[in-house]
Amino acid sequence: MKLSLIPPSLQPIAEKVEHYERITDADALQLFRSHDLNALGALANAVRERKNGNVATYILNRYVNYSNLCVLSCQFCAFAAKKRDAHAFESSIEEIVATVQEALTLGITEVHMVGGLHPSLGKQWYLDLVGQLRALDPELQIKAFTAIEIRHLARRVFKSSIGDTLAELRDAGLCALTGAGAEIFDPAVRDQLCRGKEDAAEWLEVHRTWHEMGMRSTCTMLYGHIETLEQRVDHLRQLRELQDETGGFTGFIPFAFEPTTTVMAHVPPATAFDQLRTLAVSRIYLDNFDHLTAYWVSMGLPLAQISLAYGVDDLHGTIMEEKIFHMAGAKTPQEQTVESLRHVIREAGREPVQRDSFYNHLPATPVSALRSAHELALA
Ligand code: SF4
Repeated sequence: MKLSLIPPSLQPIAEKVEHYERITDADALQLFRSHDLNALGALANAVRERKNGNVATYILNRYVNYSNLCVLSCQFCAFAAKKRDAHAFESSIEEIVATVQEALTLGITEVHMVGGLHPSLGKQWYLDLVGQLRALDPELQIKAFTAIEIRHLARRVFKSSIGDTLAELRDAGLCALTGAGAEIFDPAVRDQLCRGKEDAAEWLEVHRTWHEMGMRSTCTMLYGHIETLEQRVDHLRQLRELQDETGGFTGFIPFAFEPTTTVMAHVPPATAFDQLRTLAVSRIYLDNFDHLTAYWVSMGLPLAQISLAYGVDDLHGTIMEEKIFHMAGAKTPQEQTVESLRHVIREAGREPVQRDSFYNHLPATPVSALRSAHELALA
């Protein structure tokens, strides 16, 4: 780490980072309040480099949203719908299986699947969905469901405990839980943003239970709306504590709120400065996490590329069809090609490496063997 880049006010934190010492919540807050983005980048980069060397990863994945019907109406969400709404949609298992089968021919190793809290789908529907995707390819990694979906399934659909619900889904073929739905853990923020959704303890309990079964998941933070910097640090602290307890999180994916078409359209979108400092502070604070992912869907690939110098070691994946952020007004593309992901990583001076859902390195699928979803649709 170039200590000359660090101003005197941040030197005590830099020394902790240099000596592998954990930083405190007060340190994290001081970093968040610093205007010296280069210093934050230098500190975060030192942590990233010691954990991941010169490698930056990406995954070949396909997003699937099985339905946006939801019994809740979170303030920030432009995705959810009631049955009568024009933008309501629901896919059949056959349609989802066909979509994933097509994506497998494009080389994906992961399907990433979430939906709303559906008012009427039954237990067997969910088990058949996961089971039929598993039957398509035993190697396909099925990463699905948010913690709130799991709570909904347990309480209203499977009518059993969180542990038993997770075990049935795992036995049907579920490999990993998604990290979405964490938003900001602070109860006052949740009350304004997503009243009726699970609280922090309930979100963490789902992931704790999954981890105790020997399984892994990712975690997220939705920031840049009504939360304070203290509330961001509190969110990071709760994630760090659960990671100390279980070690089950494979990576952290913070993303900025997309306000455009939501009922919170008056909230200014997060700036590039805020996005980079949030990634950098997360990298420094979450010393027990191996990986930090930049979500190009919310920040755009150009800024995600720059974030490789602010602690990020992973650029997420091809995705192929993103709905949640785009229904909220995101102007980023819906998919990335492997070529673009590899190009931006190389240009940033890193070695691009394909990964699986658990950030394990894979041999790269030759680009010549890949077509984009767009090309396939034209074929
Ligand atoms: S965020 Fe999730 S739970 Fe909340 S309204 Fe949207 S789909 Fe439903």
